[in-house]
Amino acid sequence: MITYSHIPELRSALNASREKKKTIALVPTMGYLHDGHLSLVKKAKSENDVVVVSIFVNPSQFGPNEDFVRYPRNIERDTELANHAGCDILFNPSVEEMYPAGFSSYAVVEDISTVLEGKFRPTHFKGVTTVVLKLLNIVQPRIAYFGQKDAQQCVVISKMVNDLNLQSEISIVPTMREMDGLAMSSRNVYLNSEERKNAVVLNQSLQLAEKLIRNGERNPALIINEMMNMILSKNPTSIDYIEIVGSNDLEKKNTIENDETILIPLAVRFGATRLIDNIIIHV
Ligand code: AMP
Repeated sequence: MITYSHIPELRSALNASREKKKTIALVPTMGYLHDGHLSLVKKAKSENDVVVVSIFVNPSQFGPNEDFVRYPRNIERDTELANHAGCDILFNPSVEEMYPAGFSSYAVVEDISTVLEGKFRPTHFKGVTTVVLKLLNIVQPRIAYFGQKDAQQCVVISKMVNDLNLQSEISIVPTMREMDGLAMSSRNVYLNSEERKNAVVLNQSLQLAEKLIRNGERNPALIINEMMNMILSKNPTSIDYIEIVGSNDLEKKNTIENDETILIPLAVRFGATRLIDNIIIHV
């Protein structure tokens, strides 16, 4: 595995691979790698010749009062883990490399970036789509891999790729969970032991929703209410949202129809830590 921090060197290495007809994959991350990230790397390696993993804590996707400065970082450990999972090229640019002085161009996906996460993090997706567009342009992968854990991010990026006629295919990989069901996240290290125990309720509430739907419940308000009650019993600091939406358009459902695919995303705080999770259900 080779690490690059500068765009021109990365580009010339990838051009050499392309000349040899190698297929190239991209796995964008913010680092502090866990098994969720590594499942993306392994899938990418099983389907492509050259896997590029980017590690970049992207300042433009953090709001002014968010955790950009304290976001966990450990590039030595990440280098080991990425290498072991099958990464061929690690791209670890500086903020100045990605956003040189005078940077002023952004990619924005309207409407679907303003709901759910967008209501609570109004500038988040502008930062995400901008950095992902830059990475797709730099690497020009055949396939880029993203985790279902960030469900809205998957929808927003797929929309950008389609709207802007980008050549890369987007592949979405299932959420990896801890043994007790908590979705793996770099932010889980912020949780104290009490919060960590209570956070299991997020997955449990998603399982409850699925059970209710499988048993015939079709009223989103009722399902959300049951989920709220279950989560509130575990002392969250706040429930930012729980919604039942269409899995492609993110539009709120007033009723659940047979045969459709719905997404139930949620965001909940335990202490100062904001966690997100979701489930997709084919009704
Ligand atoms: P992040 O470093 O949090 O920006 O995540 C980088 C990529 O890994 C994104 O596509 C995430 O959706 C994905 N990812 C994060 N956590 C998980 C998980 N638990 N399971 C699967 N993919 C994940």
